[in-house]
Amino acid sequence: MNTKTDKYHINVRGIPVEVIRKDIKNFYIGVHPPNGHVRVSAPLHFDEDAIRMAIITRLAWIRRKQAEFAKQERQPHREFVTGESHYFEGRRYRLDVFEQDCPPKVWLPNNTKIALSVRPGSDRAKREAVIHRWYRQHLRAEVPPLLEKWEPKLGVSVNEVRIKRMKTLWGSCNIRAKRIWLNLELAKKSNSCLVYVLVHEMVHLLERDHNDRFRELMDRFLPQWRTYRDTLNRAPLAHEDWAY
Ligand SMILES: [Zn+2]
Repeated sequence: MNTKTDKYHINVRGIPVEVIRKDIKNFYIGVHPPNGHVRVSAPLHFDEDAIRMAIITRLAWIRRKQAEFAKQERQPHREFVTGESHYFEGRRYRLDVFEQDCPPKVWLPNNTKIALSVRPGSDRAKREAVIHRWYRQHLRAEVPPLLEKWEPKLGVSVNEVRIKRMKTLWGSCNIRAKRIWLNLELAKKSNSCLVYVLVHEMVHLLERDHNDRFRELMDRFLPQWRTYRDTLNRAPLAHEDWAY
């Protein structure tokens, strides 16, 4: 079998395109989050002109997809003031800020509001930090019971789950250290999104690559994973990792 793979970049009517030529039957084209990066996979028998033509016939579609990503990219800047919308566990809440001379805290007074109490004069950075700490505490509490449930199902053991803010990934997995990183932003998503990312990273302990075996394992353990993936891909933060 010919396993030669050729990778290079071309420019088609102002759009940079990554071309991968390999031993495949069909031409594939993808526009990938988060920036609308265009990548094509072309069979070896396609020459340069054929590749350009195939891209040109799909230009309108490419531009439409890129416009969609550009729109999603604009996550509104937040000031952490009363009246703003903030997300928690997949739901939108209205923020209510109180200034009180006591240790900062966050709580849910009802199912429409997030209450934030900070010391008088706390600036935006401080208010944001208090909310982020609350998100982190939430995820820290959610993860252990999920590990307890999924480790025996998958037959893997995770040494450590850490949480941090990441710009391009919902999660990642250090296979050798059996350490999983989760994006703090997951606190804003529904619990099923958290489950999906965690199980996805745990499946990497069984299969490193996003190949057929990986998808089979996902199908077996979490048959609805594609729905969760699509929910996450609609969010501003997305990464090609989640194309699978
Ligand atoms: Zn992955």
